[in-house]
Amino acid sequence: MKTTQNIPPRAFAPLMLEHLPIGVALFDTHDLRLLAANPRYWAHLPLQQPEAVIGLPLAEALPSVAEQGVADLFHTVAEQGVSAHIDVSTTEAGAKRYWNWKLDPVSEQGQVTAVLLTITETTERVVALQYAELARAETLSQTHETMVGEWQRLDYIETILASLRNISEPSALAQAILNAISLCFSPQAIALYSAFIEEETLSLLASSIQQNGQQETAVFPLSIAAESGTSPLHNAMHQRTPQVNKASLHGQQAIPAWFTPALPCIISIPLWGKRCEGVLVLGFAEEEAVTELLISTLSECAPYLAEALAEARLRSDLANEQHRLHVVLDQLPEGIVLVEARTSKIKYVNPSAARLLGFALPQLLGAPLNQSALMAQQTLSRQDEKVVSRWNFALIHALWGKTTTGQELPVIRPDGSEIIVLSSATPVLSEGGLITEAVLVFQDITPLKQLERQKQEFFAVANHELRTPLTTIMGFAELLQMRPTEGSDTLYQYAVASIAHECEHLTRLIHDLLDVTRLEYARLEVKRSYQDLLGLLKALVARFSQTTSTHQFVFTLDGAELTDCLPGWFDPLRIEQIISNLLNNAIKYSPVGKMIEVGVRPHYDIQNKAQDVLLWVKDNGIGIAQEDIPHIFERFYRASKVDRSISGFGIGLYLTRKLVQTHGGRIWVEGQPEQGSTFFVHLPLGMIS
Ligand code: ADP
Repeated sequence: MKTTQNIPPRAFAPLMLEHLPIGVALFDTHDLRLLAANPRYWAHLPLQQPEAVIGLPLAEALPSVAEQGVADLFHTVAEQGVSAHIDVSTTEAGAKRYWNWKLDPVSEQGQVTAVLLTITETTERVVALQYAELARAETLSQTHETMVGEWQRLDYIETILASLRNISEPSALAQAILNAISLCFSPQAIALYSAFIEEETLSLLASSIQQNGQQETAVFPLSIAAESGTSPLHNAMHQRTPQVNKASLHGQQAIPAWFTPALPCIISIPLWGKRCEGVLVLGFAEEEAVTELLISTLSECAPYLAEALAEARLRSDLANEQHRLHVVLDQLPEGIVLVEARTSKIKYVNPSAARLLGFALPQLLGAPLNQSALMAQQTLSRQDEKVVSRWNFALIHALWGKTTTGQELPVIRPDGSEIIVLSSATPVLSEGGLITEAVLVFQDITPLKQLERQKQEFFAVANHELRTPLTTIMGFAELLQMRPTEGSDTLYQYAVASIAHECEHLTRLIHDLLDVTRLEYARLEVKRSYQDLLGLLKALVARFSQTTSTHQFVFTLDGAELTDCLPGWFDPLRIEQIISNLLNNAIKYSPVGKMIEVGVRPHYDIQNKAQDVLLWVKDNGIGIAQEDIPHIFERFYRASKVDRSISGFGIGLYLTRKLVQTHGGRIWVEGQPEQGSTFFVHLPLGMIS
């Protein structure tokens, strides 16, 4: 067995060189002849007879080396004694190989005598690097492309969304959107339809068609109904996603017949916000024009366009509504003034209000409520020294949250004339309960007021003028009644008694009429005091029994004794008036000789104190038809079948009911025709507020 023990150490060097995985060669510095090389060195070189080149100069041994400037490098290393390296490539059978040549000076006794060349193949590394480089370059170019595309998309989106600014009218907004989209994608035809989901219709907002760069009049239908076939627009309305219809893909029938000019490609983009607000239609002459960029840009813009459309529609509806409302309000004869809470300025005033207040419309519109012109026209204190409030004060109060209804206000106009208006003012609240506006509605009631004054004056005069002669006649009649007559002149006595009776009747009528007038102006006086009701009623019935010979009177007590007391708070004169009216009617509407009953039924509490009382007046007269019952307490109402020879005005029961009501009570009637009537009065006895 061969061992290394017998071999001298220097002989291992060729062995090592032989097995070294890199190529190594030694060149003489003097003439650059190849001195020695290991097998790997030859393996790296495309030489057929490697040994034959030993001793040859470098250029001959490696012809390709000269081209790559290696020879110069050898000289540099040999002359300067420094290491150097170079990357070298060769081509074998079309395949490229890469090498790294390292040159190291070899010195002997301080002199560079040889150059050691170490060759390492780097093909794998270089190729890998080249691949990596290629891949990187590709990625870079792709990224660049994507970025440019994205940039473009964002630019388009910005252009389209910029068109939405400050436009609130739907058609104008639609036109601006179309212009912006056309600028970005230059479609041959473009239209924007407003969608009405409930009715399944689309209504054209704006459109334009471009041919040969020239704008032409659009030929899109104004409205498209659902029944007009399965239009791609209707599909878009329900599907939320853009629809691309290409003649080449879907056939010519995919393009709606109305779409002129007939373009081979149509895209419909539904504009969905909370609901489908509209559909955008674009037509292209080339199918290739429909790019991913176009679809993604418009899809991204769609919700914003929908929102802008919805808002524009809402605003325009609101404006239309407001306009319609103003048209109506402008026609009203009542004056209307609307004030904005934030500024206290008049926001709306109708022509009637301006006319009634004595201003020109422009003078009032926008004027602050406290403007001196509006204030100066009013005097705070009138001739009668009564402080009156101004019409603009009613609005100021409404702005503070106070509602006033049916307030009479004097308005002194700038020309000094005065009118009286009946006004109502109220705050207008927002959904959140904030006062946003105040409104004043008023009407001129000056003529009414004048009429009222005249009526009052007339009644005052009539009352005086009628009562004065009546009192005189009554006085004389009573005098004549007291005077002893010669003999027993029955005609004379009858005549005097009739005069006295009719005078009384007339006086009562005048009283009633006066009371009715007072009632209307809420001036009917009721003076309550603590009185015995039973005593009053007993006396009244006794008086009627004495003075009326035609009928009989019965006084019925239910749950009380004649000797009892029924104390309560009431006006004795008014209670007398109530019962007298009922008794006079009972006399008037029942035949002579019939019985009339006055009844009393007190209700006691647990302490045996009478709380309230039920009174009734029952007659056996003509009775009342059912159809008349609901009306007989109305003013001037007389039952239809009443014999008109029975005198009457139809105000007695009206007044009676008002008097009962002012005492906190209730009155009603029961009865049948020909079977008499019973009038019931329910009265509280306690103090009423
Ligand atoms: P007047 O008696 O002056 O017509 P009232 O207001 O007192 O007016 O009565 C209104 C109407 O009610 C009368 O016209 C009459 O038709 C009907 N009426 C009132 N009291 C009676 C009664 N006791 N019996 C029948 N009808 C009556």
